[in-house]
Amino acid sequence: MALYRTEGIVLKTRNLGEADRIVTFYSPDRGKARAVARGARRPRSRFVSSTQMFAHADFLVFSGKSLDNISQVEVKTSFPRLHDDLVKLAFASYAAELLDAMAEEGGGADGGDEGSAEVFGLLLSYLHALSAARDPEMTTRAFEIKLASILGYRPVLESCARCGAADAGGEVGFDPGAGGLVCTRCMAAQGGAAVRLSRGAVEVLKKLLALDFDRVSRLGASPGLRAEMERAMRVHLDFRLGRKLQSLGFLAAVRVAPGQGQGEGPQVPGGGLHECARQGQGGAEHADRLGEGGHNP
Ligand SMILES: [Zn+2]
Repeated sequence: MALYRTEGIVLKTRNLGEADRIVTFYSPDRGKARAVARGARRPRSRFVSSTQMFAHADFLVFSGKSLDNISQVEVKTSFPRLHDDLVKLAFASYAAELLDAMAEEGGGADGGDEGSAEVFGLLLSYLHALSAARDPEMTTRAFEIKLASILGYRPVLESCARCGAADAGGEVGFDPGAGGLVCTRCMAAQGGAAVRLSRGAVEVLKKLLALDFDRVSRLGASPGLRAEMERAMRVHLDFRLGRKLQSLGFLAAVRVAPGQGQGEGPQVPGGGLHECARQGQGGAEHADRLGEGGHNP
């Protein structure tokens, strides 16, 4: 049995047995890690706040033969503003699920240790930025593209990802199989596998990669550009992941009526918002409830 201490941010929790909880967290020196918080579901457990989604904490962990156990934990931030705002909660839940899906357990970023400190730093600054953000969508779009880049999936935006032709104007597309932009000629040759992308959207994507979160939230973009960027990043990430993330249903549901997503949201009996965000099926439930129009702040 070895004892290790590490900083971490909670990405996911899952109930285990009667009263325990398995916590998946992201650490700067270990990448994605998992450990059991014994008795965390008992009301007076010392682990209650540290096993909430997005909690940023110092963990002291015993590594066991099969599962590791959390021995002590000290919370640094719990990001209350993300838990109080349904739209921000949905974006943060999506970001956490995306990182969980893209990161290898115990290997840091992409199987190696280098990169995990950078990913951790990105996640931490994203959660702080999202807490304060007036534009949670653009903030999250920036997180997506920055995360993909650190993990080795930076989309090609400067030239055609198929033939290498310099970006010389004309209509372009985003081809997930090629991993980036494709020129008019390659797009035609592929028979429409690519998603259409305007010049404006390409320029904003480049800015999302280059700028820090502070400046990203002041960028602004039209609904049309946002939709194009979202579609391109979705096909890009889904192609790498090979599956659809469950939190996307919840995110789509709370974004249907933006004004209704703020403040107190619909509560799911017995489960809570995080269960709902994580388990996907909750998305439809939210949509129904939001559709009733009972929550105008
Ligand atoms: Zn080409």
